[in-house]
Amino acid sequence: MRLLCCVLAIVLAAGSFGDHPVKTTQTLTTPEMAAGYRESASLRGLALKGDGRPFCAAVGHGPAEDWVNKPDEWFWAVMPSTELMRTHTIGNDPFGNPKLGCPVHAQQIYGVNAYYPWIVDPVNLPCKIKCPIGGEVYPSNDFAAGDMTTGPYADDGSGCLIDGKRYYFIGLYSHYAYNTVLHPAIKSFGHAYLATGDGHYAHKAAVCLLKEAFEYPNSSDRRNRTYIPGYAAGSGMITDVVWSSGLLVDSAHCYDEVFDAIEGDEELVAFAHERIPEIQTAADVRVYIEDKLFRPGIQAIIDKRIQPNTGWAQECMANLALLLTDFGRAGEPVKRPNSSDCLEWLYYGAGRLMTAGNQFYKDGGSYESTGYNDARAGFIRAADLLARLREFSGDRMDAKRYPDIGQNEKMLRYEDTYKQAIRVLGGAQTICVGDIGAPAIAAAPATGSDIRPSEYLDGYGLGILRSGEGTQQRAATVFYGGVRGHAHYDPLFFDMYGVGRDLLPNIGYPQSWNYASAWEWSLLTHNTVVVDRDEKPCSTVLGSLLVWSVDDDCQVMEAAKRPYRRNEPRGEAGPDVTDYRRMVALIDIGPEQWYAVDIFRVAGGRDHLQSWHGGYTPTPVTIEGATLTAQEKGTLAGEDAEYGQRYTDASGRQRWDPYCHLHTVARGPMSPVTSVDFDYNTADALHVRLSFVPMGESELITALGGAPIAPEQQVLQWALPHREGEEGLRSQFVTIAEAYTGGRFLGEIERLPVHAVGVADYEPIALAVTVPGGRDIILANYSESGRLEGDGFSLTGKFGLIRERDGRPVTLKLVAGSELTCGQMQVVRPAAGPSGGRPAIVAVDRESRTITIQGPNMPSDLVAGHRVIIDNHGERLCSYTVTDAKQPAPDRLVLTLDSSGNIGEGFAAGFEDGVILNGPEVNMPFAGLVEIDGRLDYSDCYYYGGHLETGKPGVDLKVLGAMGFPYQAWGNLHIAGINHVHLCEKLSATTLESLIEKDTYWTIYEYGVGDEVAFDHSVRLEAK
Ligand SMILES: [Zn+2]
Repeated sequence: MRLLCCVLAIVLAAGSFGDHPVKTTQTLTTPEMAAGYRESASLRGLALKGDGRPFCAAVGHGPAEDWVNKPDEWFWAVMPSTELMRTHTIGNDPFGNPKLGCPVHAQQIYGVNAYYPWIVDPVNLPCKIKCPIGGEVYPSNDFAAGDMTTGPYADDGSGCLIDGKRYYFIGLYSHYAYNTVLHPAIKSFGHAYLATGDGHYAHKAAVCLLKEAFEYPNSSDRRNRTYIPGYAAGSGMITDVVWSSGLLVDSAHCYDEVFDAIEGDEELVAFAHERIPEIQTAADVRVYIEDKLFRPGIQAIIDKRIQPNTGWAQECMANLALLLTDFGRAGEPVKRPNSSDCLEWLYYGAGRLMTAGNQFYKDGGSYESTGYNDARAGFIRAADLLARLREFSGDRMDAKRYPDIGQNEKMLRYEDTYKQAIRVLGGAQTICVGDIGAPAIAAAPATGSDIRPSEYLDGYGLGILRSGEGTQQRAATVFYGGVRGHAHYDPLFFDMYGVGRDLLPNIGYPQSWNYASAWEWSLLTHNTVVVDRDEKPCSTVLGSLLVWSVDDDCQVMEAAKRPYRRNEPRGEAGPDVTDYRRMVALIDIGPEQWYAVDIFRVAGGRDHLQSWHGGYTPTPVTIEGATLTAQEKGTLAGEDAEYGQRYTDASGRQRWDPYCHLHTVARGPMSPVTSVDFDYNTADALHVRLSFVPMGESELITALGGAPIAPEQQVLQWALPHREGEEGLRSQFVTIAEAYTGGRFLGEIERLPVHAVGVADYEPIALAVTVPGGRDIILANYSESGRLEGDGFSLTGKFGLIRERDGRPVTLKLVAGSELTCGQMQVVRPAAGPSGGRPAIVAVDRESRTITIQGPNMPSDLVAGHRVIIDNHGERLCSYTVTDAKQPAPDRLVLTLDSSGNIGEGFAAGFEDGVILNGPEVNMPFAGLVEIDGRLDYSDCYYYGGHLETGKPGVDLKVLGAMGFPYQAWGNLHIAGINHVHLCEKLSATTLESLIEKDTYWTIYEYGVGDEVAFDHSVRLEAK
């Protein structure tokens, strides 16, 4: 039991000269880092020559070798005073729609770059910005020379009013000057000093740090200098609420690198004294930087003026704590905030390190896109920094109050599992989930040597089949998770990698936030299925991995998810979808030849539209097997819905979505095999071909459309198999996907006659694919007990592959079934016992990550590496990898798993009937149980089915959910203390209080005693 301590109100240290600086030792720069800059040519080059200096959160490097020759005054003057505003956009309207453009060329500039179109070059064009279309410069006055009024576009720093609209020429310039010159200079001069030991670099670094400290806002006398003027929540400091954190880290590193060299730099002291008269000594320079830059920075994080992506603030605070290593000195007045304040914020304030594991899934993934999840590495770096602070702090850092968080099992898996797993093609390519990437095809193939097997991330929700070696590596992926920040609405989207490329690239990072909801974030713009053209993001909760068989040249996975939930408040107006699942097989023919089979099943609603788009290619696709008729006008939204215009759908709803951004629509009935071939126009003649095998009457719709911000550029080609019917429609979209360079190696694809035996929810599937040397027969039923019979073959089970070579069957592979026969060859697996029951968990040990299982149909062939499927009778089936299996008694198995099952933590702040109130500084970003009109909505309810335990014997409470926010709400990621836990059993508040004392830490585990388990099974037979 631990008590929270209130973070005391902290009064900023006033600059009191004659002080001595608190920093006495280099703490951030490790000997390895210093050696790196001295010895690594690339690091030295980065510091001395610089690199690109993009206008973004992570600034680049300045060319220190060149800039060191600029006079000190140049660095003092390059950025105007922070008494003037800084802006991200010319109109200070980054989320405006439309944003203010060029005074002459208006919106045209956003065709050049949707975010940062202006040419701003403070080195060669001081105090001006240049239009990317006409090349004209603004403002018209010579601001740098003190002229504030000349010409039609004069800006004195408060903006230029034209036709009632204010243009911030100097505001935008100032922001660039800080972000692309002053800060890259800080970063590079410090590193250059490390690399060379040349004091000139340290001198320039100190000048730049002093300038930054001279301009840095604070909570007292510089309140109006913040990015959004007025030192309020979210105001940022010199730059915005997010970017300010990374820049503070860079400044901290610079100070750590050069603080020693400031001593004895008389030229610096003279320069400083001229501008800041109270500075008289080198010690004063250091005190000024510590007290005017770093302490206000710490205070701004405490005050939420700096509040970046979760992870970055923790990293920043840990850096500042270690930079100063200031716990006060005996007999001297204590300056605040100091390192103790940093620690209190980190562990018991909004840093929330006591429950840092809540930011991670069990596999180390987190809740954002595979790009933005990188921010979570901030927690890992913070843990490392705090371990070092412990070394420097003597006994000042109480190990009980500030425990080591670096050994958290989920954080450890961030690096060793998640970060590795999201890369394919030997590490050369990141799997793009959510806001990341672009639908482009790389001109040149790229593969790496970081080889991994097929794997699943059952926290993040990603199944990855991998195969092939060297440049022949390939992969097929299905995303069954639900990202909650920088998310796309992309249930069960499929991708394929090979020939050194992302072959079906995801739609990618929004090219403009203004259109993201009508384009990149939509369901239709992903390779998945839309029901009733419903685009409402109604559920993001993680799905289930149902089938996993990866041990040979025919790898199969199946995942299911519930994107629409009509039985819940938020889904009421949506389609009644009862089944939504995707089975993907990655099938190797030889070292260089392979293909994928994709079966998407969906039940419910009346309209099923499967969406496919290729990567961008200027070459028109080739379509075979369907004769298409062009729609005369309009868009996919209808003949009368014009491109880019809001329209009214059949139910009378106003819409603005991808349907009105897909044009040049054509459609026609599909023949038994209909193919769409994308020519990627590369030097190696790369093609991707999708062969659709319609099950039941289907049409193919084709359309064109790219990102609406630049509708003429990089127009993608779309192929949309479509079915319509009565309410309760069932569809199976079957696709053979292949990639080839030059000529195809797959021959004829045909559907074989087959019939179901017994009840079948969907038609049985039988395909023959002609491959070099023979043919592959692919069979599939909906369920493990489903049975199909054809001419000379039969399957009872979900998936079967029969390989024929030279006219005879040579291989049978049965997945998730009990029988597969072809002629004389047969594989049989005993079906589950008559009870059909499953073993159950009878004991768990969290420390050793073991479960003991007992019951009917125990597995006989279980080995390490196999998957165990756990049904916790909640939201989903969960997957874990068995790392060790022991049989202590004939009727019992003890399995060691790859995770303790910890999926969330908090502490009991109070009790209500059936509810445990969560602590004030606990944030559970994956929570998502919401109450709507008095009813609970489970659409985003991640914790349903979990076991809440306190470590006290007998405390194992079934969780209904943790309250949160729906879908991707900012509150998910930042707001603490709202994630109260609702229990399945409505125990009274008094009972709960006696079971779980107040302030007790609890953990929600995904599995526990009473849950049932199941296992994968597949059988393979080779002809003798
Ligand atoms: Zn212009």
